[in-house]
Amino acid sequence: MCKQSERARALDASDPLGVYRSSFSGLSADLIYLDGNSLGPLPAQTKKVMERAVGTEWGEDKIKSWNKGWFDLPLRLGDLLGPLIGAGTGQVVFADSVTVNLFKLASAALARQEGRLKILTDDLNFPSDYYAIEGLINGLKQGHKLVRVASPDGMSLPSEELAAAIDSDTALVTISHVVFKSGYLYDLEAIVEAAHKAGALVLADLSHSAGSVPIELDRWGVDMAIGCSYKYLNGGPGAPAYLYVRESLQEELLPLLSGWFGAQEPFSFSPHYLAASGIQRFLVGTPPILSMRAVEPGIQLLLDAGMQSVREKSIQQTEFLIELYDQILVPLGFALGSPRDPARRGSHVSLRHPEAFRINKAMISPIEGRPVVIPDFRTPDNLRLGVAPLYQTFEELARAVERIREIVVDQEFTRFEEGLDVVT
Ligand SMILES: *Cc1c(COP(=O)(O)O)cnc(C)c1O
Repeated sequence: MCKQSERARALDASDPLGVYRSSFSGLSADLIYLDGNSLGPLPAQTKKVMERAVGTEWGEDKIKSWNKGWFDLPLRLGDLLGPLIGAGTGQVVFADSVTVNLFKLASAALARQEGRLKILTDDLNFPSDYYAIEGLINGLKQGHKLVRVASPDGMSLPSEELAAAIDSDTALVTISHVVFKSGYLYDLEAIVEAAHKAGALVLADLSHSAGSVPIELDRWGVDMAIGCSYKYLNGGPGAPAYLYVRESLQEELLPLLSGWFGAQEPFSFSPHYLAASGIQRFLVGTPPILSMRAVEPGIQLLLDAGMQSVREKSIQQTEFLIELYDQILVPLGFALGSPRDPARRGSHVSLRHPEAFRINKAMISPIEGRPVVIPDFRTPDNLRLGVAPLYQTFEELARAVERIREIVVDQEFTRFEEGLDVVT
């Protein structure tokens, strides 16, 4: 272990992204935060932006602020995010939540794909993504069916296996680019190619991939994408989501949920809806300006650092974690719940253990002289360790694994009770 912490310190000393840690608030040596894949920490700059948004824009300028940057904010933020996900301007807009955006885009896509009744996904997707599609199918009553291709190992699905299930009845293929439990990273380009050959559209959920792996939406020919901004983008709790529609598809998709912010000239107060041209038509109602104002600094930090550097360090760090797992945690009954191939893995590592729930409780509890380590627990037995290269140190990873070892060896977890909190 000592050798590993020395190595960790050496890796930190030569880390080109090390300077970014001080751009975040609330990180300390006593708290090892491995949950940036659920709720990214607060960028220091966001505090200043929020003071301005509340104090000056709302407090002093009040309604005048709509014409001084608020009205265009959803589109402006979309264009700011664009380079991070390989999207040219005018194709990304911030709005609503991921689930709502999925529903908006899937419903418009099914109308465009009339006659095709199959919606294809896998059995690794985020539950809300299933729920939104199930609700849509039930409401449409046109005989659509959601087909879930089964993962052979419960954590991944080779792109060819998904591609093989795409046929001439497939309207839409929808998957998470990085799978929330295992961190499996799809070859999205290959899936798009297979889908387009069969005339199907692809809708990718980028919630766990934006800000953690390089994405080339335009180059890969992705039709539609959605994602949240509170995970690796560090936009804050409940931060607004975004959606992408490739330019050549925008005019072919008509929102079913047509609202005034997606209409031509909302302030003409026309009694009939005419869809705005371009990506703006996918807006619905008044955007949550305060939450949206908090989104920019987190994106800016990732743009400054560059996704290639972020990805390089992320791979180095997840590889380091898996090496520590092999040496220290395998003998303690842990199993790897993430792919070993870094090319097929996002930025978190899932460790499985029959006592994962109580181990997680022990890790997050303050105990004198021990660091608090915050991963998250995903049922039934996953401890997810999220690595966010902008602020994560290698030393934190070594200390986190040492803390897990100690909790299991000393049976510390037996002091904690079974039973879920509402949010895990
Ligand atoms: C976090 C996450 C969501 C969250 O959806 P919301 O509607 O914004 O709550 C959706 N999909 C995936 C894959 C996620 O990881």
